[in-house]
Amino acid sequence: MNAGPLRPRRSVPQAWNVHAQNPIHGMREEGVPVGETAERRRWLERALGLERFSLAWMTAEGVVGVAAGASSRSLSLEVFGLDSLIEIISAWAVLWRLRTEMQERSMPAGHARVEVAERRAARVVAACLVGLALYIVAGVLWSVRVHETPHPGVVGFAVAISAIVVMPPLWRAKQKTGQALDSAALREDGVGNLTCGGMAVVLLGGLVALRGGWWWADPLASLALGVFVAREGWEAWQHAREGGG
Ligand SMILES: [Zn+2]
Repeated sequence: MNAGPLRPRRSVPQAWNVHAQNPIHGMREEGVPVGETAERRRWLERALGLERFSLAWMTAEGVVGVAAGASSRSLSLEVFGLDSLIEIISAWAVLWRLRTEMQERSMPAGHARVEVAERRAARVVAACLVGLALYIVAGVLWSVRVHETPHPGVVGFAVAISAIVVMPPLWRAKQKTGQALDSAALREDGVGNLTCGGMAVVLLGGLVALRGGWWWADPLASLALGVFVAREGWEAWQHAREGGG
């Protein structure tokens, strides 16, 4: 078996394919250059660190966001806080996939299990993105219907601004690490975080726009964000399906 089922890849994962692609030395030969294995391990550790950070951050963001939203009766803030739950599920799936590779990489047939884990995680992440898109669009429809004036308060501002500051670098780090490990699940998980930052921009931008009387700016920006996530999610889902399994 080669990398066939997971075709549209940017690079071939060196470490986990080595047992399958070792025509000279045969199946059990330990033909992995130490440096390569060590390097992959470093990337894996980095990815694990990123996902642990994500889980901790999103949990705090979700709790604070929902609490602040409920106390200030701000739906958009509650919506923002609840989105953290989707990010948590996505991060948890990727964390599981990374841990699987950490455990299996030394096993003879471990690479096959890692590929299965990658595919499953990629599907969960893609489903999270599609869910997020639907969630955003539902939020838009609701806010247009209710005509809610966002008033997130000091805590809400703090939550939104910290997301704007932290999410883009987190997304970039996951893109880079996901590329190095050839993990679509990790890369797409980062897209969820970037969307979170985008939602925070919309939340704050909506407040500014409201002062100018452009109440429609907020739902319009949300809708654009929803379309972006829907496209990403759909592509990720197609990609994960092509993987079979
Ligand atoms: Zn978030």
